[in-house]
Amino acid sequence: MERTFSIIKPDAEGFYYVHRDRPFFGDLVRFMTSGPCIVQVLEGENAVARNRELMGTTDSKKAAAGTIRQKHGTDIEKNAVHGSDGPDTAKFEIGYFFSGAELASLK
Ligand code: ATP
Ligand code: MG
Repeated sequence: MERTFSIIKPDAEGFYYVHRDRPFFGDLVRFMTSGPCIVQVLEGENAVARNRELMGTTDSKKAAAGTIRQKHGTDIEKNAVHGSDGPDTAKFEIGYFFSGAELASLK
């Protein structure tokens, strides 16, 4: 018997594959894998749009006062949070991290 040490790293390249051809892709993946992240599924009426509203616009420097990105982000790249931009992307992104069984409590 022995021990080994293992870290499960997020596959941010796969998660953000829609942006693979954009010039900032390398920096985005570096930032997304620079530390631990917490993933969560938020449920509620109009959850996609309401979460985007709470997050604020992509560029933290331009985000409205009181939004998460304005409070906790740094700039357009290091903007603290991600939120799905539509029901289809939400479905893909939730499935990327969670199994059906884990979401059993959701209707
Ligand atoms: P997210 O998808 O992370 O919720 P978003 O939908 O507001 O953000 P996207 O256009 O989908 O913005 O860009 C994805 C991510 O890529 C952004 O959150 C940001 O970290 C990074 N990004 C977007 N545009 C730029 C840019 N012009 N320069 C550097 N990084 C950028
Ligand atoms: Mg997006």
